[in-house]
Amino acid sequence: MKYKITLLPGDGIGPEVIAEAVRALEAVAGKFGHTFAFTERLMGGCSIDKFGSSLTDETLADCQAADAVLLGAVGGPKWDDPNAKDRPERGLLALRKGLGVFANLRPVKVHPALIDSSPLKPEKLAGVDILVVRELTGGLYFGLPKGREMKDGRERAVDTLEYYDYEIRRALNLAFKLAAERKKKVASVDKANVLESSRLWRQIAVQVGKEHPDITLEHVLVDTAAMRLITAPAHMDVIVTENMFGDILTDEASVLAGSMGMLPSASLGESGPGLYEPIHGSAPDIAGKGIANPLGAILSAALLLRYSLHLETEAAALEKAADEAIAAGARTADLGGTLTTRQMADEIIRRLS
Ligand code: NAD
Repeated sequence: MKYKITLLPGDGIGPEVIAEAVRALEAVAGKFGHTFAFTERLMGGCSIDKFGSSLTDETLADCQAADAVLLGAVGGPKWDDPNAKDRPERGLLALRKGLGVFANLRPVKVHPALIDSSPLKPEKLAGVDILVVRELTGGLYFGLPKGREMKDGRERAVDTLEYYDYEIRRALNLAFKLAAERKKKVASVDKANVLESSRLWRQIAVQVGKEHPDITLEHVLVDTAAMRLITAPAHMDVIVTENMFGDILTDEASVLAGSMGMLPSASLGESGPGLYEPIHGSAPDIAGKGIANPLGAILSAALLLRYSLHLETEAAALEKAADEAIAAGARTADLGGTLTTRQMADEIIRRLS
């Protein structure tokens, strides 16, 4: 089969890790007889420098026309001016909107060989295998009105937490669909004791739950969820939540795995190409040194194979190769090892073939 993949390596370590993810995808293509046609485009700070825009219309059109989009990371101190006309993060939000992706999936697994890299006690970490589904397009980050004003001689700031029923329902539907292929457990996280938007969330979660009687639904308040992620993470399976709660909980969950550099993500919509990216940023402190961990990017490529190209065997083969490389002791500097980005990828790629 032939597939079109648009690459947005971005800034900092983005191009370093995406180059390795592409090599891994090429190895998968060779092994399983597929053709991946890659189109590389600028996005983020590098696009501001070249075109004066963090995401050009042409780049967005290339992404929309692809089967899937693989992104590295965007941003860095050079583009940090809060008063700048355009910022790398704006491109990211415009890309998500332009692709219509409404849910961000972050699997968090703790590899047995890396249990000691996590700040948590080893006995808490055995068997951790969580999938967080974060609503991506609604809530406090997008609701209007938003802004600042002077009122009665005082400065006032406002953000609006708004959700429509269909936005909540589609995120929950996806979470239940994914849970059906896992341990059949959904924890719907809200703050229904305080927030009206959370009460609507919970009401719809109950409705969607009734449509899936084989799946156990639990409602968890966000403060309890934050504690459980640290005290009993192995008991959690699929977690589904609104945008800001998900933003915070996914970063908390990432600590379990030991390094930011290891974790992949997928952003999916109703149809059209998915967006795949490691959860880490552009890591300006190590950019250009060739020591970034490519695992987050390579495992994002595996999610791309699974969710956008529907190549489950190929996705599982790439994940297995990564697992075996870690089990055999392959480590970049963030995991206490000495391998370069390229060497770490080599360890995975040679286990594929
Ligand atoms: P970061 O994720 O870039 O880095 C945090 C720490 O983790 C750093 O010490 C870094 O060296 C380390 N790290 C990250 N990825 C690694 C990898 N693959 N291998 C080894 N070590 C790794 O977060 P930050 O420092 O807060 O942000 C840096 C820039 O990235 C900022 O401009 C921020 O806005 C941007 N950012 C972008 C995204 C994105 O593109 N989706 C996400 C987060 C941050």
